[in-house]
Amino acid sequence: MTLSDEELERYARHIVLPQVGGVGQRRLKAASVVVVGAGGIGSAVIPALAGAGVGRLTIIDDDVVELTNLHRQPLFREADAGAAKADLAAGFARSLNHFVEARPLRLRLGPDNARKLLQGHAIVIDGSDNFATRLAVSDACVGLGIPLLSAAAVQFQGQVGLFRSKPCYRCYVGDAFDADDCDTCAELGVLGALTATVGGFAALLGINALLGIGPDQSGQVHLFDGEKLVWRAIRIPADPACKGCGSA
Ligand SMILES: [Zn+2]
Repeated sequence: MTLSDEELERYARHIVLPQVGGVGQRRLKAASVVVVGAGGIGSAVIPALAGAGVGRLTIIDDDVVELTNLHRQPLFREADAGAAKADLAAGFARSLNHFVEARPLRLRLGPDNARKLLQGHAIVIDGSDNFATRLAVSDACVGLGIPLLSAAAVQFQGQVGLFRSKPCYRCYVGDAFDADDCDTCAELGVLGALTATVGGFAALLGINALLGIGPDQSGQVHLFDGEKLVWRAIRIPADPACKGCGSA
């Protein structure tokens, strides 16, 4: 995979970095990333990946834009109310960088279709807003052997974790959240700027993981306190009885 003169100019501030260089930029171009959820996290992740030149982006979201989204989802504008988020987010990615092949999927991801939707991607970035989806994504990633970058923000708390099969996201949260009616932003609230912070961190972690920059972050969850403004990292032990990865 080569880079055109236009791409060399566009990514010049990347390519000058010794950690990226032409090799890393071509690796980004060759990468295929799926973003689950075009909400608050997705609003930070999708522009960052498209701008960085990730070659193929699949964006999965079955939701439409509502007025209550606009305080934390700058992918969308007032005039977008009622329109499909996946389509708008993919259109944004393409308009930011025409070298990016952005594919919208207006679907709800669940245990029945997760594997089919996620297979073939280098990494899955999950910014969905409910545990049923998160666990379906995690189980599928374990089954497919695809790294999962899971990011969430609620109230003033954020978390970002990278999972490579074992331990998995289910080892971290347990099975209690398998129900469809768990807590979401709708009930608990979320500060708009928090999702940008957490989503931006997730995008950085994702790009570093794709390029092999820095120490491997898998098996760790980074927690952000939006009141104290501090990050801390915790290591997640693999649960031998985990339904997701226990027998993997
Ligand atoms: Zn597990």
